[in-house]
Amino acid sequence: MATLALLWESSSSMIFCFRSVKNLPPVENEGVGGIIIGVKSFGFSVKVLYFCILPLLDFNLNGKPMTYLLLSMGALSLVGMLWLHLESRRENEKTAKMRSVWGAVLAPVFFGLLAWLPLPPMIPILVGLTTLMVVLLLVVPTGRPGGFENCFPAERFDERTVMFSRAALKPDTDYFDRYYRDHPQHRECDDKFRRLPGLGSPDAGKYEPLSFAAAAASFEAVEGLSGLIEGEPAATTLEVSPEVATAFIKGWLKKLGAVSSGITVLKDEHMYTVKGRGENWGQSIERTHRFAIAFSVEMDHRQMGTAPQGPTMMESAEQYMQAGAIATQVAVFIRNLGWGSEAHIDANYKVICPLVARDAGLGEIGRMGLLMTAELGPRVRLGVITTDLPVNTDKAGFDPAVLHFCSICKKCAEICPPGAIPKGGREGPEGNKRWRLDSESCYTYWCATGTDCGQCVRVCPYSHPNTLMHNLVRRGIKNSAIFRHFALKMDDLLYGRKPKPMVPASWLPNRH
Ligand code: SF4
Ligand code: SF4
Repeated sequence: MATLALLWESSSSMIFCFRSVKNLPPVENEGVGGIIIGVKSFGFSVKVLYFCILPLLDFNLNGKPMTYLLLSMGALSLVGMLWLHLESRRENEKTAKMRSVWGAVLAPVFFGLLAWLPLPPMIPILVGLTTLMVVLLLVVPTGRPGGFENCFPAERFDERTVMFSRAALKPDTDYFDRYYRDHPQHRECDDKFRRLPGLGSPDAGKYEPLSFAAAAASFEAVEGLSGLIEGEPAATTLEVSPEVATAFIKGWLKKLGAVSSGITVLKDEHMYTVKGRGENWGQSIERTHRFAIAFSVEMDHRQMGTAPQGPTMMESAEQYMQAGAIATQVAVFIRNLGWGSEAHIDANYKVICPLVARDAGLGEIGRMGLLMTAELGPRVRLGVITTDLPVNTDKAGFDPAVLHFCSICKKCAEICPPGAIPKGGREGPEGNKRWRLDSESCYTYWCATGTDCGQCVRVCPYSHPNTLMHNLVRRGIKNSAIFRHFALKMDDLLYGRKPKPMVPASWLPNRH
């Protein structure tokens, strides 16, 4: 009877706890309300469990099994910390490397002392049970967090208003005068960044000749692809089933270096309204294809870890080139089959890549306004091919777990030197709530440093490498609200709340 009562009490208290956590109010509206409910229900659950279980343990266990339990926990924490240490060495994460050594020493010593010291039996039992409860709560899924809606743009964007387009306007030209006549509100801000040295400039704060020249070379190379991004399809059309075409293209994208890929029906809101760069400046953009194929390529972890130094811009430009080359190759291939297609590459976009990639199932748009992919978070470049070739589409990437994690994390907002990333909740009308980056402050900072900064990407907990250990954490973040709080605390503890830039590989110049 006592055992039955114990099982009933503990399971009902656990269910109470999970239900409360599952229904966490959205943090963007209620501040720390969700955490308080989680902690209260957790406390209640623990209390109920202890009151039921302690008399049984005193009677039954007499200390011994608890000793084994504590020793097992010590051994597990030792293995976990050593694993973390080896990964951190491989990833050149200095802080995590050092702190994991401390963890590997302190955690087993703590559990070992509890097991062997002549403490009152109640204390090791309480510690052991609390640890077990915490582990249980971390691994059991709590479902989707409530209160986060999908975001659909209320209107289409004009590419001429994007910072890169505004930066490309040359004073004393017809385009320049027309733009600021129509958008006088942008003049003061744009004059401010024009007075600074500029992206890639030798006069900029982070200038370093080799990495800056390498970045410029990648941008020039991607420009060289512009003649191939669109064209007439072959006269003869090859009929291919959507299944075969989809499997072939996705398989080939992977072979060419894409980390993930997906397909969506191309919608009007994916497209810019007006061209803002190149010789077709000011031309209207219409949707001409039925489908969009999106893919991501990885930006190197260590090079991005040097942000905001030159090697970061070098890597960012290199992956613009990589994504552009892959997109162009696939677009030409599809045209050779007799179907219309166009590659959307750096400086030649007709689509807004993060929106397309989200609807193609590659991820969710996070606090910094970038796509948070399942494998590498924001540490990717995106490529898109639009086409009429019949293909199968994927499920869109709406992910409230990412939105919940971003609402509690804020690491990117705290590291951002000009404060361009909002620290509050998502804003905007119903159905179009999102975090709105102050792209003007961000770009102005780039013009002072000369690089495209990337510190927000560097510190993001989702940016860790695509390895088993980090993927287990990503899985926990997706599944459990409690795990999201735990993972954030652990990330701060192991890597730092505001981690310092990494030292680049030995062949790269180091300005630290
Ligand atoms: S750093 Fe944190 S808040 Fe910013 S995008 Fe990454 S997970 Fe979201
Ligand atoms: S790139 Fe730099 S300046 Fe821009 S949002 Fe990220 S941290 Fe801020």
